[in-house]
Amino acid sequence: MADLFIGGAWTDAVAGGRRTIRCPADGAVVATVAEATRADTEAAIAAARRAFDAGPWPRTPASERGRLLLRTADLIERDRAAIARAESLDTGKRLAESEYDVDDVVRCFRYFGGIAGTDAGRVIDTGRDDAVSRVVYEPIGVCGLITPWNYPLLQTSWKVAPALAAGDTFVLKPSELTPSTAVLLMRLLEEAGLPPGVANLVLGAGPEAGAPLAEHPDVDMVSFTGGLATGRRVMASAAATVKRVALELGGKNPNIVFADADFETAVDFALTAVFLHSGQVCSAGARLLVEDPIHDAFVAEVARRAEDIRLGGPFDPEAETGPLISAAHLAKVEAYVEAGLAEGAKLRCGGRRPDEPELAGGFYYRPTVLDGCHREMRVVREESFGPVLTVERFSGEDEAVTLGNDTDYGLAGAVWTRDAGRAQRVAARLRHGTVWINDYHPYVPQAEWGGFKQSGVGRELGPTGLDEYREIKHVWQNTDPRPQHWFRPRDAGRGA
Ligand code: NAD
Repeated sequence: MADLFIGGAWTDAVAGGRRTIRCPADGAVVATVAEATRADTEAAIAAARRAFDAGPWPRTPASERGRLLLRTADLIERDRAAIARAESLDTGKRLAESEYDVDDVVRCFRYFGGIAGTDAGRVIDTGRDDAVSRVVYEPIGVCGLITPWNYPLLQTSWKVAPALAAGDTFVLKPSELTPSTAVLLMRLLEEAGLPPGVANLVLGAGPEAGAPLAEHPDVDMVSFTGGLATGRRVMASAAATVKRVALELGGKNPNIVFADADFETAVDFALTAVFLHSGQVCSAGARLLVEDPIHDAFVAEVARRAEDIRLGGPFDPEAETGPLISAAHLAKVEAYVEAGLAEGAKLRCGGRRPDEPELAGGFYYRPTVLDGCHREMRVVREESFGPVLTVERFSGEDEAVTLGNDTDYGLAGAVWTRDAGRAQRVAARLRHGTVWINDYHPYVPQAEWGGFKQSGVGRELGPTGLDEYREIKHVWQNTDPRPQHWFRPRDAGRGA
């Protein structure tokens, strides 16, 4: 089946061949999809350019664009079961989690559908009666949207929905490992009545299918979610044409537990923070900081409970988390654990693949707790993006903040304490884009999502998430233009 969507037509890549998608839980073949070449991506960019320059979409009233997003949300909700199943097969994640994700996707489309057209800019008092001055929003143009494999449709919707609300056209390049739900979304946008060329889809590898989106002069903005190294490359390529750039990169997120925290709840959330989706979450609380007096008891309890976590495939009702995305990623996670142990970390649990023969066909890794860690270790500084929790000990508020901020990243973090004042003080001092107090992982589309420091550039979600996808223009109009004579005409005042 043709699965590149270019200029409103479904086509197959001719030169790029096809890629086989396998479920990471057992290696079963899920699909084969077309693999785009650079030429395919360039054709998609040309289609998006035409749709922006000559098509109706950028000039469609914003409220009407919003209605299309709301219709799309209804269609996604209608197809919830099929979309969740496709997401689980590509990613290996539990079906229940994919269902949550699809519900979040629906919320995202409804949020941006709802705010499209509610802000028409502002009128400025010029202090004159012969001039009017307005600040208005305009679409940026053609957007290149590049997304990762961990929350494939959700990360895509965080870009597609605001880009459409703003009146942009786009070329989407999802991760080559998880393309299926992007194809389903394109079909629903088509069904919702999006004009041809506004939404374009290319599938395939980053350097071939994705790189032109950062390089090409006809792309006005590149919005990328993925790893730090790729993000740097995208930003450098975008510099040649001074594109707008939005980057959502990784995190090395501190989960800070003070001695006065609700012990049981904090333990419970420490597990969710890092082992949800086997740690393949950008905001994962992979760095546990525990205050001295409770450190030993806390780590023992976290490790005891981590031992009990049940691994399994997407449709195993007993499974609590699933496999890693690929053999390469599993090898990377193993290497991080080995490096941590070589640098002196103490293994409290995990550190190996599971024993169950029925899991042998998938890329599973046991939830792992490394104690006695310090900030010079690679496994503490870099994102393993796997089910690996490192534990550090601290004493007092200042040390907690110093350690929590001692990272190149700045995506998210949490603080656990019963002291309301301390909770606010620590939250204020942490240099991370999201800080949870006595909680971990919740987000709402009304609030901005984005990173400090090397976790990214720009914001997704929230009202300013929409601003990432539009230009802000000041329009001044003199309503009674007359000569000003800054420089007096030759004949003016002659004889005066
Ligand atoms: P990745 O950087 O390997 O790939 C991301 C995307 O970039 C893929 O679609 C890939 O094909 C594409 N790509 C690769 N090379 C490219 C190139 N030269 N030019 C253009 N595109 C290219 O990341 P990943 O492994 O897919 O995802 C995991 C990473 O994503 C983690 O680091 C995680 O923290 C991050 N992430 C961040 C957020 C956030 O909100 N901050 C959310 C989800 C994931």
